[in-house]
Amino acid sequence: MQKGEVVILRGNIVFTPEEKSFSVYENSYLVACHGRVEGIFTKLPEQYQNISVHDCGNGLIIPGFVDLHTHASQYGQRGLGLDYTLLDWLREYTFKEENKFSDPVYATHTYQAFTEEVIAQGTTRVVAFATIHQQSTRILCEILARRGVGAYVGKVNMDDNCPSFMKENTQKSLQETEAFIYEWMDHPLVKPIITPRFAPTCSRTLLEGLGKFAAQYKLPVQSHLSENVSEIKWVQELFPECKEYHQVYQQYKLFGQTPTVMAHCVHMSEEAIQSMRENQVIAVHCPDSNMNLTSGIMPLRKLLNNGVKVGLGTDIGAGHSLSMPQTIVKTIQLSKIRSLFEKKEEPLTLSEVFYLATKGGGNFFGRVGSFERGYWLDALVISQEAAVTPLSPLEKLQQFIYTGTPACITARYINGKKINF
Ligand SMILES: [Zn+2]
Repeated sequence: MQKGEVVILRGNIVFTPEEKSFSVYENSYLVACHGRVEGIFTKLPEQYQNISVHDCGNGLIIPGFVDLHTHASQYGQRGLGLDYTLLDWLREYTFKEENKFSDPVYATHTYQAFTEEVIAQGTTRVVAFATIHQQSTRILCEILARRGVGAYVGKVNMDDNCPSFMKENTQKSLQETEAFIYEWMDHPLVKPIITPRFAPTCSRTLLEGLGKFAAQYKLPVQSHLSENVSEIKWVQELFPECKEYHQVYQQYKLFGQTPTVMAHCVHMSEEAIQSMRENQVIAVHCPDSNMNLTSGIMPLRKLLNNGVKVGLGTDIGAGHSLSMPQTIVKTIQLSKIRSLFEKKEEPLTLSEVFYLATKGGGNFFGRVGSFERGYWLDALVISQEAAVTPLSPLEKLQQFIYTGTPACITARYINGKKINF
């Protein structure tokens, strides 16, 4: 084994191989070879003895966070216009902001800031919307790749029911999407994802073309589903042939035919939930966004009880922060509020939600989000300032999730490579 191929971290290792509890290894060694976890050892095995160790002292070593739904292009509008609900917010703020990405200089500036904030917050993998602009979307991919962040990036498609300045020509939208796919489909870390904005802004021809690309190039899909009551009513008017919102995606093969993430899933019928499970579509819970746009609260416990896979997303700019620890906290808080009104829905525990933010979302990227053997080494080193009272590793993790800041994260690894920050 060559020296450069092995990474060894020593400290208090905490992660969630399963939802129900944390695995904790105090004062142990986490060893990765060629970017993948080899094992966790209390005593360093002989063959690694002369390899340098990153000693994290009393700090924690945890998996990097996975943000399954966010809009890189809305980074500049965080916190703006959040007195609106979804459709007004799109019209008054978001479409205008995204239009600025026709300018590659503006795109570069925003996407650099976005990427640095993603890294600062300890997110190691992200599934992101860019905009309709092919050149700017390429710029986002280049910046993420250069910084070593794992990502799926979508060139947004929209050719209907939106302002003229954002409305794509259908054929041009498909051509540019295919060109973008060719450019990025073989990149090891940053890959394309099929991205119809949401059903109302896509023509049937466009949806059909995107479904074909997903199948032809074996690409995953991301979009939005059942976020807001007015949106759902609008979809029913626009697609009267579909009884339910999800069936619009389903009839164009954008609903689990390839791995699919659907953001929100707030207002879900029993039939829609069943279809999510059967098609293994991943629902992405975005608590900040649910609250900021008064959309509702995703029935997270109900989805999990019904076998639907779930991940977490920050959904900026409807969410106002790229912090996944804060997304974890709000997910737990919202589940507690829901449990007050829905007696069958037990609140979620910290280990369950930490799992969603690491291994749960990480599954979308393959073997990501855990420290089991064979997983990619995506890791954060957490060094909180001296606590007021002595804390166990698990208590340190709790305190970091609830009160930590990016300054507490003292090192970040993605695919076993240390990220300069
Ligand atoms: Zn979104």
